[in-house]
Amino acid sequence: MSVEILSASIEYLKGVGPKRAELLKKELGIFAYDQLLNYYPFRYIDRTRFYKIRELNPELPLVQIVGRITDKKTIGEKHKKRIVARLSDETGTIELVWFQSLKWVEENVMRGKVYIVFGKPNLFNGTFSISHPELENYPRPAGVTGNLTLQPIYNSTEKLKKHFLDSKGIQKLVGLLIEQHIREVKESLPPYVMEKYKLISKREALLHIHFPGSAQMLQDAQRRLKFEELFFIQLQLLGSKQQRNLKFKGAVFDKVGAKINTFYKDILPFPLTGAQKRVIKEIRLDTHRGIQMNRLVQGDVGSGKTIVALMSMLLANDNGYQACMMAPTEILARQHYQSLVSLLKDDLVKVAVLTGSTTKKQRTLLHEQLEAGEIDILVGTHALIEDKVKFKNLGLVVIDEQHRFGVEQRAKLWRKNSIPPHILVMTATPIPRTLAMTLYGDLDVSVIDELPLGRKPIETKHLFESQRLRMFGFMKEEIKKGRQVYVVYPLIKESEQLDLLYLEAGIEQMRYQFPLPDFQISIVHGKMSNADKQYEMQRFVEGKAQIMVATTVIEVGVNVPNASVMVIEHAERFGLSQLHQLRGRVGRGAEQSFCILMSGNKLTREGKLRLETMVKTNNGFEISEIDLQLRGPGDLSGTQQSGVLELKMADLAKDQAILQEARNMIIEIFEQDPVLSLPQNHLLRVYLERKNQGITFDKIS
Ligand code: ADP
Ligand code: MG
Repeated sequence: MSVEILSASIEYLKGVGPKRAELLKKELGIFAYDQLLNYYPFRYIDRTRFYKIRELNPELPLVQIVGRITDKKTIGEKHKKRIVARLSDETGTIELVWFQSLKWVEENVMRGKVYIVFGKPNLFNGTFSISHPELENYPRPAGVTGNLTLQPIYNSTEKLKKHFLDSKGIQKLVGLLIEQHIREVKESLPPYVMEKYKLISKREALLHIHFPGSAQMLQDAQRRLKFEELFFIQLQLLGSKQQRNLKFKGAVFDKVGAKINTFYKDILPFPLTGAQKRVIKEIRLDTHRGIQMNRLVQGDVGSGKTIVALMSMLLANDNGYQACMMAPTEILARQHYQSLVSLLKDDLVKVAVLTGSTTKKQRTLLHEQLEAGEIDILVGTHALIEDKVKFKNLGLVVIDEQHRFGVEQRAKLWRKNSIPPHILVMTATPIPRTLAMTLYGDLDVSVIDELPLGRKPIETKHLFESQRLRMFGFMKEEIKKGRQVYVVYPLIKESEQLDLLYLEAGIEQMRYQFPLPDFQISIVHGKMSNADKQYEMQRFVEGKAQIMVATTVIEVGVNVPNASVMVIEHAERFGLSQLHQLRGRVGRGAEQSFCILMSGNKLTREGKLRLETMVKTNNGFEISEIDLQLRGPGDLSGTQQSGVLELKMADLAKDQAILQEARNMIIEIFEQDPVLSLPQNHLLRVYLERKNQGITFDKIS
């Protein structure tokens, strides 16, 4: 019964009607009662504080005053017509001014009466005035929606305001809804969960989120709603992980055979770092338990993820399975291919590459070899997951630079084999813990938090345009020592034309500063053909060019150990994680490396903070946390596509503790009740079942 009432069309709420209902749908996406109930205020104004007129100053935001109307008159003609009233308390007098709704003011604002007045005070000719103040009778009547200490402010739109659905109007509707129907709201969390985390009930939470009884009650309401929101996201993530584990068997890699042993003992040119060893061990444990692995490996640029991937693939090969490795771009795929081939030297395993530019003839051959099981490791781009690419026995998929692959694509991979292959996702974009838990909450996470020994930390400097010659001088010195230099320009979609101009001007300048034949410059940007890019990259990789001028196409993965200087032009225009990615292109060899951030003299506060952060730290996890604080989760690279992050209440930058609690709770629940069969978890089971049929939570709240 109750479910039906709350899903009733908003049209039937008293005071709404067809016209306003239409607007609420169009403007705010509110169709039903429960959606209005879940339309939360975006901020609150403290209504406990009353100002005396003597206390006013022009810097104050919105203020609240109690006073008596001592005078009221209409002045001016036609469109200059306005009503000016005087309002006095025992400390002084201010003016109230209306330019609109004059008839209403005429009839309703009474001389001699005491009001609570609310608005922004402006100082004009020595007198304070408030235009279009909100007026309330004094004293305020008691009741649910009266006696407010914190006044809710709702987002509204121009169109809604025209139909009297400004913040106040929306508040009125919500008030009505709550008075009439709050009892229909069902509890959505199991009682034992609420008890454990001291959460107030759903009803109380909704009441106090809209009409806070006090600051404390508002806080309790927010905590409850945030917890609930994060709890159900975690339920879904860990629920699907749980289902996968119950459903899929997963290939068993129980042999450590000749391939991996030979590689480790005879070929690997350096000892593994402790972190690399630990992660490989985690992968080994995962892959011989008979469940399907879904693991995310996070590691800063240069932390040596490729070796971890390779050794995992060799493990698959040793157990009679094929492996593949997917990269987001053609350049990266080819580079991975080359580094694997050179690492593997003497034909230990057969490696092949497949990208968009593989010819049809090569493709046909490749497909045959794959299906015959003659290829052990296939490296490539998205082309790998096309349905026509069939493996004989695919056991492991490595996805490099994962953030460009969506959940859908991962799912597509699972179907590539009768037993779904193990999946290893590598990301060089360290993301904050809260984001990892939310975006990749259904994956297990490994962290490579250690750089190979002997790596010298990159030195980062921020130079202004006026110091450009110093930068050129420094580049020359480094090139004289035999090193190579990257110079990177932004290329952002919206301003592509302008960016290209910058890039071209930059290239001119470089050619002038670094003339032929002593200096070779290779140029790579997104507007070039793949073949040209390839050619130019190769010149740099082989050391034939000392300088590479590029746009952000080189952002991910490119590995030239001899390159020791990264110059980033217009550095203030890049996001933190992107700057960090770019910087990671250097510092890969034995030499001291440098990163020079060039910027104009005028910086925004945020731009300045970004550059300062880069100068201060090399730690990707630290940088990602600052990035999250600065930009919020929605803007972090790689998170845009994710609906998971459209949170109503919780804020991943601030609510780490609540998220951790919610996740811990779900983990505990699944440990005790793997298929949610206990009566106390019935609610959760129903939630997941509905969710899997595409029914959203709003509808069952
Ligand atoms: P990323 O994590 O950015 O993918 P790579 O796997 O490309 O890093 O490794 C960066 C460089 O460090 C490569 O040249 C690689 O050969 C080297 N490397 C990886 N692991 C080690 C190690 N344990 N000791 C020394 N060098 C290593
Ligand atoms: Mg890499």
